[in-house]
Amino acid sequence: MRKNKEDTKKYLQNWRKRHPELRKKWNKQHKLKSKYGLTHEEAEFLYFIHHDRCTICQQPETRRRLSIDHNHKTKAVRGLLCSTCNQAL
Ligand SMILES: [Zn+2]
Repeated sequence: MRKNKEDTKKYLQNWRKRHPELRKKWNKQHKLKSKYGLTHEEAEFLYFIHHDRCTICQQPETRRRLSIDHNHKTKAVRGLLCSTCNQAL
């Protein structure tokens, strides 16, 4: 992950410009704030830094969005999971 905040912001803005349709879709499908305490922006960045791939098997999820894996106690996000790995945990 990039440490510089401005760099991160620019990255995210560029990314959004290139994928406007995905953003719309995600906004509809994911009620992230209530579930994970994440804003859409933060969630997008999460998918972005993980290249839309599962943290465990490194495979992209094709049928649906990757699940956000988070620590239930601390609410800290650990990574993204495909349905297969998610079920295996
Ligand atoms: Zn996986």
